[in-house]
Amino acid sequence: MAIRTGAEYIESLRDDRSLYIDRKLVRDVTTHAPLKGVIDTIAKVYDQQHDEKHKDMLTYQSPSSGDVVSKTYLEAKTSEEFRELSACFHLRTQSTFGLMGRLTDFMSGYLLDQLTGLRVLGKTEATEKAQAILDNSRENDLQVTHALVDPQSDKSKPEAPSEALHIVERRSDGVVVSGARMLSTLAPVANECYIGPYLARQKGEEDYALAFQVPMNTPGLSILGRESFDQGKGTFDRPLSSRFDEGDAILVFEEAFIPNERLVVAGDLAAYNGMMRFGVGYTAIQACTRSTMKLRFLAGLATAISRANGRDKTPHFQTAIGELMGLINVAEGIRSGAVVDSIRKVEAYEQGHKAIQGDGLGEAKFQGMSGFAALNVFFPYAATKAADVLRLAAGSGVLSMTEGDYENPEVKSLLDRWLIGPDTTALHRLELMKLAWDMTGTEFGSRAGLYERLYSGEHERNCQIWFMSPTTAECERLANNIFEL
Ligand SMILES: Cc1cc2nc3c(=O)[nH]c(=O)nc-3n(C[C@H](O)[C@H](O)[C@H](O)COP(=O)(O)OP(=O)(O)OC[C@H]3O[C@@H](n4cnc5c(N)ncnc54)[C@H](O)[C@@H]3O)c2cc1C
Repeated sequence: MAIRTGAEYIESLRDDRSLYIDRKLVRDVTTHAPLKGVIDTIAKVYDQQHDEKHKDMLTYQSPSSGDVVSKTYLEAKTSEEFRELSACFHLRTQSTFGLMGRLTDFMSGYLLDQLTGLRVLGKTEATEKAQAILDNSRENDLQVTHALVDPQSDKSKPEAPSEALHIVERRSDGVVVSGARMLSTLAPVANECYIGPYLARQKGEEDYALAFQVPMNTPGLSILGRESFDQGKGTFDRPLSSRFDEGDAILVFEEAFIPNERLVVAGDLAAYNGMMRFGVGYTAIQACTRSTMKLRFLAGLATAISRANGRDKTPHFQTAIGELMGLINVAEGIRSGAVVDSIRKVEAYEQGHKAIQGDGLGEAKFQGMSGFAALNVFFPYAATKAADVLRLAAGSGVLSMTEGDYENPEVKSLLDRWLIGPDTTALHRLELMKLAWDMTGTEFGSRAGLYERLYSGEHERNCQIWFMSPTTAECERLANNIFEL
């Protein structure tokens, strides 16, 4: 099968899944009104692949079937291929303004990293299964989501809680699993979900070391969706909630059977703990591209609002927005750096090394991780800063009336007379303020802020991992070298 159309994607969602959302069990998600906006948005991304203007950038010829498939799955090896992959990610995330963090694009990168990581680790059987799962996702143009983190229970202990997803029975044809994983963004409207590694599992936790991908209608899988943010207020008053609320859900498996062909890892700690580290870094390229796009959107909106208020003439706002432009340019450098790291990793692996070789510029062992480092420590800061600038730029203006109020002739004449800005009509001002409110103040907006802070996992644990990286010792050695002078 080749790339799908939006209509085919929508049809594929009618799979009799068990989605509990908004106080209901929803089996056909296409009939649940709060999900319609986001389903239509994703359908447009599918249709874009068929648009002659974008087709070359978004698709390529499948290495297995020869069909036209999504370029997000391109296993780039050369600089030209990495340029193409990166451009594809860029265009797709531009269509959703960087606001949908877990479009299936993220999983295309992740599946490629899983595959290349397992290959480097010499895990032949797991590599073959990872390849088959990737091929199936690509050939069927699936929307894939994921859940990597154990559920919130007693986090005082280092080991996985008993509520976390684990194997309860090993059979010759697969495993039976029970337990929860969170949080799975996009789960309500995805075709399949991937379970895989985040924090390393220790000896004794083999039953918790699982990587697999299954359809959302897998028997025994309950999708516990958080409340929907699109409450039918329309695209003017809620321009983002009504289109981009990708949903989040806790996935609970109760005695669900995972067949061998869908099971990449079931207890192999070396594979579970190592595969993402040894992946080429396709995930980081996609994630940095998406995060940069959202930064651009936030900064662009802050600029437009400042202009609508005439604040763009004041040094204070020029400085604040100027800082965001600086951060965007740093982000673009990070994107390029992530690509270069990946190219160097491919070269190292082709030469039989397990890591980028040192070039005298830094510690070899941890090179190739700059994109992930940025996701841990740069983008959360930059996104929070940009949202804050937007919040201050809009000020109290976000506490505005609605489109319905504006339609009242008496109110309209008051707004048109008294609430205009430099070269800005009252209606456009209202439109901008509604957008700013949805980006920063509504449920959608506040979730968007939290999301960027936790996007790449828990800050504390991530920083502790960086503390233990070779970079720390390398920096300390450099400082101590001064005493050798
Ligand atoms: C909107 C949203 C969407 C998400 N989507 C996905 C997804 O699609 N797939 C997925 O796998 N995951 C997803 N996540 C989950 C994300 O990976 C987790 O939120 C993250 O790993 C943190 O885990 P937790 O939420 O369980 O927080 P906890 O582990 O309970 O931690 C809570 C807070 O305490 C802090 N903390 C922990 N230890 C300390 C300490 N010693 N001192 C001080 N502070 C500490 C943490 O940094 C965190 O901020 C999503 C999260 C959010 C918010």
